[in-house]
Amino acid sequence: MNNDSIPYKTYLTEAEVPTAWYNLRADMQKKPAPLLNPGTLQPVTAEELEHVFCTELVKQELDDTTPFIPIPDEVQKFYRMFRPSPLIRAYFLERALGTPAKIYYKFEGNNTSGSHKLNSAVAQAYYAKAQGLKGVTTETGAGQWGTALSMACAFFGLDCQVYMVKCSYEQKPFRREVMRTYGANVTPSPSMKTNVGRAINAAHPGTTGSLGCAISEAVEAAVSQEGYRYVLGSVLAQVLLHQSIIGLEAKAAFDKLGVKPDVIIGCAGGGSNLGGLIAPFMGEKLRGEADYRIIAVEPASCPSFTRGRYAYDFCDTGKVCPLQKMYTLGHDFIPSASHAGGLRYHGMSATLSELYDQKMMEARAVEQTSVFAAAEQFARVEGILPAPESSHAIRAAIDEALRCKAEGKEETILFGLTGTGYFDMVAYEKFNDGSMCDYLPTDADLAASFAKLPKV
Ligand SMILES: *Cc1c(COP(=O)(O)O)cnc(C)c1O
Repeated sequence: MNNDSIPYKTYLTEAEVPTAWYNLRADMQKKPAPLLNPGTLQPVTAEELEHVFCTELVKQELDDTTPFIPIPDEVQKFYRMFRPSPLIRAYFLERALGTPAKIYYKFEGNNTSGSHKLNSAVAQAYYAKAQGLKGVTTETGAGQWGTALSMACAFFGLDCQVYMVKCSYEQKPFRREVMRTYGANVTPSPSMKTNVGRAINAAHPGTTGSLGCAISEAVEAAVSQEGYRYVLGSVLAQVLLHQSIIGLEAKAAFDKLGVKPDVIIGCAGGGSNLGGLIAPFMGEKLRGEADYRIIAVEPASCPSFTRGRYAYDFCDTGKVCPLQKMYTLGHDFIPSASHAGGLRYHGMSATLSELYDQKMMEARAVEQTSVFAAAEQFARVEGILPAPESSHAIRAAIDEALRCKAEGKEETILFGLTGTGYFDMVAYEKFNDGSMCDYLPTDADLAASFAKLPKV
């Protein structure tokens, strides 16, 4: 069946692994809108951000002109434990679909944290350590980011305080236990440890929390403890920068094979894996050197791109973070209980939002039952049990491959397989039992949420 000369897996040698991250913003003519101070509505300054974030990460956040930023030696060494990740030709999936399309995926689940999030976690922990900090605080929704950060903090000897959305703290005890194994302190959010947590608990007794609440708590915890800063696992430009390692490796592997993808697909929660995967390809597109179709796939239950507004909004429920211009469903929007916890954020990366607004990429929303159908179809032939989040990209890749079949086209499709789904078996169980539902917000739900967007 390996009827063309492309191997099932393509790895780069250690010498071929990229040594600098690529900052996509450097090639954008029209840059993403600046973060604003919510009090003054003026662009935030480095000084303001440095109370919350590590100094070097603030520099990266505000730098939209330097194209390549060297990966520190220590981070490169850590990457070697699980990178380069393979670029896999999905021969078995192609055969199962009977498609003339050539499907490739870049697999990021090959580390103990189980997802791409470790790429940024190790970078952020490294800069915190280099600055001489005692520790970092963060939030986690589904638990993948908290897991990755716990691993990175254990490696660099940093304290790690994780505010975990209460419903997943209760539903995913094993995720919590992995974090504790790596030495992290895990608190269900909203908690009674912070002012914002106490206020949210008072206003909404019995609430099971949201990512927006947990972010507010983690930020408060960072600024109220000496020697601590806050770190975030997605959305921010610095996270997309670190995740560019995914796209740079994928591009280098394709160049080695002499192949060029036509369609590039990734799931989009806050936009970091997609932003990282597409970075060097989008760079070529922005510079007019090549063209690619780029597709963001989001859950129909949390459709930031396809039904959101492009507007300034708060990144968190407690309104302590800067305002960001992004596709948003509103900072008060609480998506229904979908099983792709990593895709339940109300907003989106400012960089991807601007590129989407410029029509440089497409977006589509898919319903979770169709996502799990794609996940199972993939798992049964490709030998990887995918995360529900990643399976959004699988759904779109299969749909594109079936379109190629209908049109008799031999297009090359690349998608990002961001992680494995071993901690999501309750979701798979619901799907297998036929009890999984698709919940979509109504137009009235969204209108109520848009009405609370800040007036900027
Ligand atoms: C967090 C997560 C995502 C979504 O986050 P992005 O920042 O949009 O990439 C996707 N897949 C997995 C496995 C995740 O853990």
